[in-house]
Amino acid sequence: MSTKNEQLFAQARKHIPGGVNSPVRAFAGVGGTPIFMHRASGSKIYDTEDNGYIDYVGSWGPMILGHAHPKVIDAVKKAADDGLSFGTPTPFETTVADKICEIVPSVEMIRMTNSGTEATMSAIRLARGYTGRDKIVKFEGCYHGHSDSLLVKAGSGMLDIGEPTSKGVPADFAKHTITIPYNDPQAIKDCFEKWGDEIACVILEPIAGNMNMVVPTQAFHDTLRAECTANDAVLIFDEVMTGFRVGLGGAQAHFGIDPDLTCFGKIIGAGLPVGAFGGKEKIMSCIAPLGGVYQAGTLSGNPLAMRAGIAMFEDLTVAGFYDELSAKVDKLISGFQAAADKHGINLRTNNVGGMFGMFFVKDCDTTVPQNFNDVTQCDMEAFNTFFHGMLDRGIYLAPSAYEAGFMSIKHSDADIDASIKAADEIFAEMAT
Ligand code: PLP
Repeated sequence: MSTKNEQLFAQARKHIPGGVNSPVRAFAGVGGTPIFMHRASGSKIYDTEDNGYIDYVGSWGPMILGHAHPKVIDAVKKAADDGLSFGTPTPFETTVADKICEIVPSVEMIRMTNSGTEATMSAIRLARGYTGRDKIVKFEGCYHGHSDSLLVKAGSGMLDIGEPTSKGVPADFAKHTITIPYNDPQAIKDCFEKWGDEIACVILEPIAGNMNMVVPTQAFHDTLRAECTANDAVLIFDEVMTGFRVGLGGAQAHFGIDPDLTCFGKIIGAGLPVGAFGGKEKIMSCIAPLGGVYQAGTLSGNPLAMRAGIAMFEDLTVAGFYDELSAKVDKLISGFQAAADKHGINLRTNNVGGMFGMFFVKDCDTTVPQNFNDVTQCDMEAFNTFFHGMLDRGIYLAPSAYEAGFMSIKHSDADIDASIKAADEIFAEMAT
């Protein structure tokens, strides 16, 4: 680790809590010092001494076209020349809204926000306003941003009311949030049987990317859709991560589910701060100024973010884009798997579209994790060894065993081959 990087981290810690503006960047789970980056291009990010790293984080998802994509950068430069924010409607917002509604049929109307957190928080308020109910249901291991109602875990008993996962969240808020196990159809049925007509909404990551990457069963999704419909509860897909990432139509197209509301973020702003929530017109019409559910934002629909998003959608909608991206991810993940098998490392993997998960399970009989409990049983030390081994070889993975990996269309065969070779070396060392 370079002295310069150590110095930058010490300097950052003086006035920034923990030296970071978002906790996962601090390397708390994997140990060591976070690397300070200063530029990025294509598949790579560069530290302050200009060492390049093949990047499998992609700013936690948005950089699906690769870093500093010329078309996106050009759109942002042009937008900047025209002024940064007007506080009025712009035609660019309408173009992005039209594009999303065209690609994602469940979305009939959409409102822009500045982050994924704002999108999920607003969708929940809307669901509560629409139904006139207070309780919300979420799943263990899913992350939906840092609003009060969502920083809640299951209470001590199954189907108990929730407990805050962060100091500062009043227990009075948490009591309206019910947290149940992911990927468990029976838990959904039990929950609706108990709380039925009190539930405003169920929110979930339709493919979970915040407990590494867990792909639920079709039965889980079908049960959830049926129970929400039968109980007049709003089904909210949080596609902040999976939207335009696991495929053009997101996880809802993958599973063939028609959610009532969907939250977006990350990719739709191509790397600028953005979020959005949308869905059925009859629900979305309850938002101010049409209806009585208040939601707003000084910079919402910001022209830079919108024009970056428009440029990005041009590439995403080219036929074959997601086939090419998936083929890259398949190649990487099957290479990792083959290397692990060769050295007797108990690696399990998941991948859909441009997203992947890697689990170091503790013995050879364990299958790929199906829920949060399974993920917590994985060998975190093995992950940390792998993470640091890759970092030392110039490959940047998410600094936590609970995060998914992301690839861009700019990752080359050479990047993939170098990554597999590095993994093979590390697995050989781990096996001895
Ligand atoms: N929802 C999901 C599924 C996420 O992965 C995230 C962030 O990683 C959020 C919501 C929150 O988005 P943001 O960090 O933009 O507030």
